[in-house]
Amino acid sequence: MQTQLLIGGQWRDGGNAERIPVLNPATGEELATVANANEADAVEAVAIADEAQKKWAATAPRERSEVLRSCWQILVDHTDELGELITAEHGKPIADAKGEISYAAEFFRWNAEEAVRIRGSIGDAPSGANKIIVHHPPIGVVAIVTPWNFPAAMLTRKLAPALAAGNAVVIKPAALTPLTALRVGELLEEAGVPAGLVNIMPTSGSGAWFDATVEEKAVRMVSFTGSTEVGRVLLKRSADRVLKTVMELGGNAPFIVFDDADLDAAVEGAMVAKMRHSAETCTAANRFYAEAGVADAFTEKLAAAMAEVKVGNGMDAGVSCGPMIDAAAIESIDGLVKAAVGAGATTALGGSPVDGPGFFYEPTVLGNVAADSPITGEEIFGPVAPVIPFTDTDAMIEQANDTEMGLAAYVYTTDIGRGLAVSERLESGMVGLNRGAMSDPAAPFGGMKQSGLGREGASEGIYEFCETQYIATSW
Ligand code: NAP
Ligand code: MG
Repeated sequence: MQTQLLIGGQWRDGGNAERIPVLNPATGEELATVANANEADAVEAVAIADEAQKKWAATAPRERSEVLRSCWQILVDHTDELGELITAEHGKPIADAKGEISYAAEFFRWNAEEAVRIRGSIGDAPSGANKIIVHHPPIGVVAIVTPWNFPAAMLTRKLAPALAAGNAVVIKPAALTPLTALRVGELLEEAGVPAGLVNIMPTSGSGAWFDATVEEKAVRMVSFTGSTEVGRVLLKRSADRVLKTVMELGGNAPFIVFDDADLDAAVEGAMVAKMRHSAETCTAANRFYAEAGVADAFTEKLAAAMAEVKVGNGMDAGVSCGPMIDAAAIESIDGLVKAAVGAGATTALGGSPVDGPGFFYEPTVLGNVAADSPITGEEIFGPVAPVIPFTDTDAMIEQANDTEMGLAAYVYTTDIGRGLAVSERLESGMVGLNRGAMSDPAAPFGGMKQSGLGREGASEGIYEFCETQYIATSW
C-alpha cells in the first residue's frame, strides 16, 4: 500500500520530515504512517498539475470519457479491498464502506457520460447585430480538500467532474483518513489517468498547505467538503485571489414525522437517515420533530430499532455502527446528550460512551427534547436521536428553519400534497420525502444558507468545474 505523496506520478517523501500516524478508531492501533506534505510540495505539485492540465484539456472529450469509465471499472473491481481500507481507517461497518465505494465509483461513470455532453449555446443578440456564442472551457488547476467521514466518495464527487471537464487537481485528504485517497490515486493511475493530473498530499499542516496552494497563480478554483467553520476560513483565503469556490459544508437535518405517517416506514427511514456510515454523515437526521399524536409511539419504535444496533468493530459480522472517529468526537457527543438530559429530556435508550479500546458511543434516543436545546442547534455526528414533539406545523417549520444550516431535511407523511408543500417551505438544499437517503450522482447535492455554495453531481456538477466564455461575432 502506498503511504507516500503522489506528485507528478511519483510516490515521494513529504517536505515535513515527521510522518503522520493513521489509527484504526475501533482499536486505537496504528495502521500506518503517511508522508507529510509541506508548502514546497504544494507549490511543486501545482506547477506539475498546471503542465499536465494543458495537455489533458487538449484531449478529445471522448478520450477523457473513456479514461473516466476505466476509473469507474477499476474502483468497482477493488470494492472489497477499498471497503476494508475505509473500515480500517474510518471505522464504519464494512457494508457501509463497500456501499461508499460503489457510490464513489459511480461519480466516474456518471461523469464519463457527462464529459461528452458539456453544452454551450449560440443565439442572436436582441439587436440582431451579432451572434452570441457561449462555450465552457475547463478552469485549470483545482485545489480539493476533503473530510474524514467519506474518505473515497467526497474525493471522487469532486475529482471525477474536475477531470471530465479537462482540469487537473491537487488534493489534501483529511489527515485522519488519508490511506483510502492514496490507494484511489494509485488505482486511477493504473486505469490510465495521466501522471501529474491527480496529485495527493496528506499533511499535518492543513492551513499552511492551503495558503501556499491558493497563492499559486495556476490554481483557479477551490472545492471543499468539511465543516462550515473551516469553510469560512477557506472562503476568506480564496477571496484574496478571487477564486471560484464550491463549498459542501455542515448540516443540521430535521426529520419530520406527521400524525398520518406510516410509522414503521418512518422508523426505517429514520434508521437510515440517522445511522448509516456510523451516524457520521453531513446529511444525518439531527433533530426528529414528531407530531404530538405519534411522538411517544415514534420514540418507542425508534428506541426499539436503535436497541437492535450492534456497536463494534466495523469488520465484525452483524455490526451496524462502528466507532466514532476519535476521542474528541465522543466528548462532543456526550456533552450534547448530557446537556439535553440536564434540561429535562428523557432517555429512551443509551446515553453514554462505551468503554474503550476504541471510541464507541451507545445508540441513544432522547424523548421530549426542548426545541431550543443545544443538541438541536449543533451537528451531533453520532448515534443519538433527539425527539421533539410538536403540535403546530407552522411553528415546527419555523424551528426546523431556525439554523444557519440548510443541507438536508426529511419529511414523513402519507399525504403527498402536504409532504410537497412542507418540503417547499424547508430551507434545505435536499429533502427526502418518505425517504431516508437521497445521495445520488444523478441528483444535485448541496446546501442552502451556510451549508454551502454550488452543487455536486447531476448535470450542473460538471459546469462547476468549467468557465463560461462568450464570443460575440457575426458572419
Ligand atoms: P473539517 O474539520 O472542516 O475538515 C475538513 C478538511 O479541511 C480536512 O481535510 C481538514 O484537514 C481540512 N482543514 C482544516 N482546517 C483547514 C485549514 N485551515 N486550511 C485548509 N484545510 C483545512 O471537517 P471534518 O471534521 O473532516 O468533517 C466533518 C464535517 O464535514 C461536518 O461538518 C460535515 O457535515 C461536513 N461534511 C459535509 C458534506 C457535504 O457534502 N456538505 C459531506 C461530508 C462532510 P485536517 O483535518 O487533516 O487538518
Ligand atoms: Mg473536524
